[in-house]
Formats: sequence, structure tokens, C-alpha cells
Amino acid sequence: MLPKGNVKAHIADWLKGLPALRNSGILNPNAKPMLPRPIILPQIRYPKYEEKEDPNIIKAHAPDLTRPYKGLKDVLENNRKWANASSLREIKFFEILNKGQNPKLFWIGCSDSRVVPETIAQLGFGQIFVHRNIANQFNANDFNCMSELEFAVNNIKVEHIIVCGHTKCVGVMNACNDHLSPNLKAWLSDIRRVRDKYPELFPDRMTESSLSQSEKDKLHRKLVEVNVSNQVSKIASNEVVQEAWKDKERKLAIHGWVFNMENGYLEDISVTIGKQ
Ligand SMILES: [Zn+2]
Repeated sequence: MLPKGNVKAHIADWLKGLPALRNSGILNPNAKPMLPRPIILPQIRYPKYEEKEDPNIIKAHAPDLTRPYKGLKDVLENNRKWANASSLREIKFFEILNKGQNPKLFWIGCSDSRVVPETIAQLGFGQIFVHRNIANQFNANDFNCMSELEFAVNNIKVEHIIVCGHTKCVGVMNACNDHLSPNLKAWLSDIRRVRDKYPELFPDRMTESSLSQSEKDKLHRKLVEVNVSNQVSKIASNEVVQEAWKDKERKLAIHGWVFNMENGYLEDISVTIGKQ
């Protein structure tokens, strides 16, 4: 049980401990550097984004929420309407797509249907190479994860790898549920290991009635950040990235971001590692 009065202190401790945890190996005790002496690059701090209102841009990109899903036939019809749109034909859009891709970003995000990278980042076709899975995990034992990392770094030569978590992440919230299927338990084992270290800070304790909703949200948000930070750390120590960093000229940085479901803002949680 988490005593109500200590929640703020726990969150403060958690915040202070993030960089230390990231480097300590506590979050992933089984992770071993792939090289005898891994290259550890300094963290990069970016200037904060300056908030400014621009109603024209917001209006231009507002998604059409009035169009409900009506079945697969409707999906195919929508596709034809879009593909045949005169505005796309005029700029020879599909000729451009046919020429190939050269994205600078490799995005590792959650499979959640509400977190659509191209939309929330306002980037388009050919601009983000994307890998998505439940709770935005990087798993070096997963052929899918590893082949995408290799392709992104060695073939496409992306300059940024972004691990993007999000608030209200059901995968993160339920990672420690004992009733998960064996596959989900295995997939979310990183988060379960954090629970073993800090059991009082986990979502399965968030049902504790002495906590306010705002306190539960803060704990969940911290867990989302720790999860992102952990994945950034694992990618940085992976052989593919380590090899790329041996090239002194190579620009490659790994970033941790969180998408806030409440207001749509992407936030850099300041755990960037790499060269730019
Ligand atoms: Zn999620």
C-alpha cells in the first residue's frame, strides 16, 4: 500500500533517479552491452519548444472525427477517392512516392490506435520509418525490432531514433497484471522488472482508494517515462548503434518522447543520447 502522504516524495525521488536508473542497469538487469567497451555519448539537451498559438495550422490539420467506420467496403471506397484526388494528381504525388524513401526519423511507438506518428508529428509520406508494438518496447531478441533497427541505421541511415510513449497507455498500465497471457507477460517483462524494484509505484497499486486521480495519473506518467528511458538506454547499448557511432562523422541520436493524450502535445523527456 502506498501511503497517501508519501506520494509526492516518491514521485520526486523517481524524477531525481531517472538518469541514474538509466545508466545503472537496474531497469534491465539482463541487458548486456554488445561490445566490451560500449560507446557512451553524452546526453543532449534541447531548448524547450516555445508555445505559440496558430489557429490556421490547427484548423488545416484537424482530423475528420465525424466520419465513423462503416465497414471494409467503405475503407476501400475512401482509398479510391483519396488516390484519385485531383490535388494529388496535379503534384504527381505517386510519381514522387515511387522514387523511394529517405526518412531522417526512425520512430518506435506504441500500437495504440490513438497515437498515429505521422499525424501527431505532422509529417507525411516518406518522412518517418515506423516500428510499433504494445508499450513501445525495444527487444533485441525480436527479429522484427532488430531487422527494423538494422535497416533504419545501416540502410536508410536515419539521423534520429525516437522512442515515443504515451499517457493512458493500457500496455504500460496492465504490464504487471498477473492474468496476462504468456505472450504479453514475456513482451512486457521489462516493465514487470521495474515493478519488482519499485512495487509501490505501479499501476496495480493505483487502484488504492487513498490516491486521488491526479496522483494516480502522475504515477502512471512517471512509469511511462521510465519505460521510454529504459528503451532508449537499450537501443544506445545495442551493437547496431554502437557500430554506427564508431564512425566519427555519423549523426545518430536516440530520443525519448511522450505523447500527452490530454492535450496532444509531444514532450521530449530529456534522455537523448547521441551525436548530431
Ligand atoms: Zn500504449
